[in-house]
Amino acid sequence: MLKIQNINKSYKNNLVLKNINLDFKTTGMYFILGPSGSGKSTLLNLIGGLDKPTNGHIQIDNEDLTNYKNKELDKYHLNTISFIFQDYNLISYMTVQDNIKLSHNKLDDTKIKEVLIKLNIYEKKNELVKNLSGGEQQRVAIARAILKNSDIILCDEPTGALDRDNGKRVMDILKELSKNRLVIIVSHDINLANTYADKIINILDGETIYQKEIDNQVFNNRNNKKIKKNYLFKLALKNLLLNKKRTILTSLASSIGITCLLLVSFLSIGFNKEINELEKDIVKLFPITINNKVYEEVPNESINKDEISIKEEDKYLYQNIITKDYINYINKIKEIKSITYNYDILLPLITDSYNYLNSSYLKAIPNKDYIKENYDLLSGRIPSNSHELLLVVDQNNQISSNITNSFNIKNNINILNRKIKIILNDNYYQKNNNYLIEDSDLKNMYEKDNIELTIVGIIKEKEETYNTNFLLIDKDLYQEIININKESSVVKSILEDKVIIPNNNLSKEELLSFLGYNTLPNQINIYVDNLKNKDLVLDSLDEYNKKENKIIYDDSMQETISIVKDFTNIVTIILLLFSLISLVVSSLMISILTNTRILERVKEIGILRSLGLSKKNINSIFNKENIIISLLSSIISIIFIIIIKNPLNNILYNYLESNTIFRIDLKSLIIIVLFNIFITLISGIIPASKAGKKQIVECLR
Ligand code: ADP
Ligand code: MG
Repeated sequence: MLKIQNINKSYKNNLVLKNINLDFKTTGMYFILGPSGSGKSTLLNLIGGLDKPTNGHIQIDNEDLTNYKNKELDKYHLNTISFIFQDYNLISYMTVQDNIKLSHNKLDDTKIKEVLIKLNIYEKKNELVKNLSGGEQQRVAIARAILKNSDIILCDEPTGALDRDNGKRVMDILKELSKNRLVIIVSHDINLANTYADKIINILDGETIYQKEIDNQVFNNRNNKKIKKNYLFKLALKNLLLNKKRTILTSLASSIGITCLLLVSFLSIGFNKEINELEKDIVKLFPITINNKVYEEVPNESINKDEISIKEEDKYLYQNIITKDYINYINKIKEIKSITYNYDILLPLITDSYNYLNSSYLKAIPNKDYIKENYDLLSGRIPSNSHELLLVVDQNNQISSNITNSFNIKNNINILNRKIKIILNDNYYQKNNNYLIEDSDLKNMYEKDNIELTIVGIIKEKEETYNTNFLLIDKDLYQEIININKESSVVKSILEDKVIIPNNNLSKEELLSFLGYNTLPNQINIYVDNLKNKDLVLDSLDEYNKKENKIIYDDSMQETISIVKDFTNIVTIILLLFSLISLVVSSLMISILTNTRILERVKEIGILRSLGLSKKNINSIFNKENIIISLLSSIISIIFIIIIKNPLNNILYNYLESNTIFRIDLKSLIIIVLFNIFITLISGIIPASKAGKKQIVECLR
């Protein structure tokens, strides 16, 4: 039983329906007649719950429709009401069949077929609605309403677009249906009403003519439909698939923002990584050095710089002296990777061609990784013991003639396996009365029992750092020489003051140290693995310097690193600015696109809601669409990024000499994809809820 009590409806100041009172029973065919503009459609919309009356009540059985909350209204649309709209309200990019399935009834194909055949549009069932004529569309709308199988069918001029024949078909079906449900037909066709109506209501004066007694019961509410999540997803997907062009264009457009974001962040990540690696290389290559030498430093007292004054040189000089205590101290610093020591000792080198070789060519290998990290092996092998050494050629693969000459090598360079001997004290000096004289017979010296070294490999720097020749030796070799020499009879004789070495101006102590007795290094090289450890090591060294005898160290890598740091900071700030801009641009882009996409489809929202989908359902459809769109746009961006990765790196290579600046970083990729989904969802919420707030009639208009 449907009862309309004292209904008024006005739009702004225009009173369209004035004090309407009507009673409908649960079955039968009611005609509402009236001229155009008399408010018939408005009344139908009120009954259908698509709009709210300005005042008055609409009773459905014992409930008041005007008090319905959203949820109850949704249920009412879903189960109780079917609409046949004057302007059809079909979703134009869907097929006939898909539109019918929007009625959300469990429909099998035979049922659909039956109704479509009755309505004479079965052949069109796979046709897109937008390709149908007005009359055909009207019949699709009718089929949808019929198949929804609800208690009340509301028809707004259902035969308006139909020829006589098809009009009769439609009316016959509706008449048949009205036997066990309420059919309300709005029309201006009095003849049609006279033929089919059980009751005619003239909206102008409210006059009613009963033609037939109709029984009255409670509405069955024969359906109890539920909308499944799965269905919403299918709807979202269908929408995207049916609007391929729009979907692809939207995805493309929103992928521009994402691509910018990905480009900038990958560039800055790659760049930072590159810089970090560069820093790491610098840190590993250049040691902190401590020298036994005189430093010049500014004394603490303040200098009046406004005047010209005298600089007392003595005050400015500081003698750095490496002590045993200091060596013990640095050996305990755990952040140090390795230490090499240089000694100012007697170190005569004689080659297997019986020539001297300058000992300044020797350089200690700080640690095992050092060779692997910084050098390429050109020939031979890596040393396996402390008596094997490596020859470093320069970037042009050249070896100094000073070295080759001492091996008597002229053209045919075959230096592998050649030998060098370190001549020990007792083999170097010969006793002549109270004097120690250097032996002048190199062959004689060489053939004695000395430390024999073999060149086992030739290597080259990976990156041009020193670009000069070295003979890389084991760092423990110096200690081995010192250990043998300090026991030498030369040292013993000097200790006992039995002999002197002529023509030297060293003190006895200095001479003994030079010959290996109580020798302390004159240079310490401290190698670290990374910048963090370097800072910790420097902290420890500074800590030591709080004591009396401070030791000044040289941090040669510092300057290089600080130049790199300044440069990095500038580039990082620029990249950060760019990524901020692209963040804003991409967010704006995505939200504008999402906004227009949803606002374009307000009518569709109205149709779906009139068929019983709730605001939540609508939101969920849009959210799903938005997620799919944002994933699509992310995929487009990723493909684009992958395509341009190599060309971009090649271009960058011309400027930066590194072809790995632009790298794909999985973590930031995931973050950006999630960000894209997030922004799309957020920007979809506002227009979707805006559309949801509208009355359904407003959406449909
Ligand atoms: P009918 O269906 O009988 O031809 P309608 O119910 O569509 O008439 O319209 C009745 C009157 O209400 C018309 O004058 C129309 O202009 C007005 N009207 C309908 N809907 C609105 C609206 N949303 N806003 C303002 N005026 C409206
Ligand atoms: Mg109308």
